[in-house]
Amino acid sequence: MILSIESSCDDSSIAVTRISDYKLLFHKKISQELAHSEYGGVVPELASRLHAEALPKILEEAKEFLPHIKAVAVTNEPGLSVTLMEGVMMAKALHLALGVPLIGVNHLVGHIYSLFIEQESRLPKMVLLVSGGHTMILDVKGYNDLKVLATTLDDSFGESFDKVAKMMGLGYPGGPIIEKLARQGDPNRFSFPIPLKSSSKLAFSYSGLKNAVRLALEEIENLSRQDMADIAASFQKAAITHLLQKTKKACEIYTPSDFAIVGGASANLALREIFEKECAKRGIPIEFAKLEFCSDNAAMIGRAAIEAYKRGDFIAMEDLKVLPRSCFV
Ligand code: ATP
Ligand code: FE
Repeated sequence: MILSIESSCDDSSIAVTRISDYKLLFHKKISQELAHSEYGGVVPELASRLHAEALPKILEEAKEFLPHIKAVAVTNEPGLSVTLMEGVMMAKALHLALGVPLIGVNHLVGHIYSLFIEQESRLPKMVLLVSGGHTMILDVKGYNDLKVLATTLDDSFGESFDKVAKMMGLGYPGGPIIEKLARQGDPNRFSFPIPLKSSSKLAFSYSGLKNAVRLALEEIENLSRQDMADIAASFQKAAITHLLQKTKKACEIYTPSDFAIVGGASANLALREIFEKECAKRGIPIEFAKLEFCSDNAAMIGRAAIEAYKRGDFIAMEDLKVLPRSCFV
């Protein structure tokens, strides 16, 4: 079995996965969303303190598995350095206590393997990663074998939802809040500009769209609930259209035979619906992770770590470092 730890942002999570058949034997996550909600974003110092409380509590519940653990895996990049450190310190302590090897897992690779929890992997694939810190189109050939085909020039897709929600005083994380509000809104009331629409660049950009929303909000006097719903719907439409336009472009260039969307924001049902329709039109199979594994979790880290384990891809304790920026960026 592999014990995996995730603490790259505001979710403390531990999983135990059986190596032979990928079965998830234990999985628990304590989310800090509520604690950060009043600040409209993650406060790193608060997050690391909450990880220091939550991770030992979860580990206590997983105690019965400890004698069977063959390796300890931990997210060591990318993320907030002070929160990554909490997971890495626990992994190092377990490595010493249990005498088993260490595996450092890239969080983005973890998101990709959220597609394959309790399953064999199905690669190669073109993968769209939409999360709080990244918006990328990736050509994924295997474990740690990927190429970035497109990335964002500024904000990420999920981050733009967080910022729009914050502008309207709606709390954190903004993604689910905006998605829910958008269902009651008119997506055609505001015609927000689609980023990089007339650019041939294979890249994303969300800061201009965010600023367009800010300007629209400033022009509305006595913002009503309906105004907010219309803003949410119009913004979401533009944000997804941008993803779609650039993904179509990537498909024209790279002609993938398989496609998947991962990351916390891939839980967005409007996004799923639109991409499913477009892929069906073109006969390209599309996959998503199960909803429960879209946002950060240790199950995806454990699943990715099995690939590393099979390759003997272990790391010495002194070499396992926290890297806030991903090696793929
Ligand atoms: P990264 O994975 O890039 O390091 P992260 O781990 O902070 O960043 P995730 O946990 O993967 O990000 O995803 C969280 C992000 O997804 C947040 O920005 C959140 O607002 C967004 N998100 C979650 N649900 C939805 C949704 N339904 N619609 C849009 N965005 C969403
Ligand atoms: Fe993430």
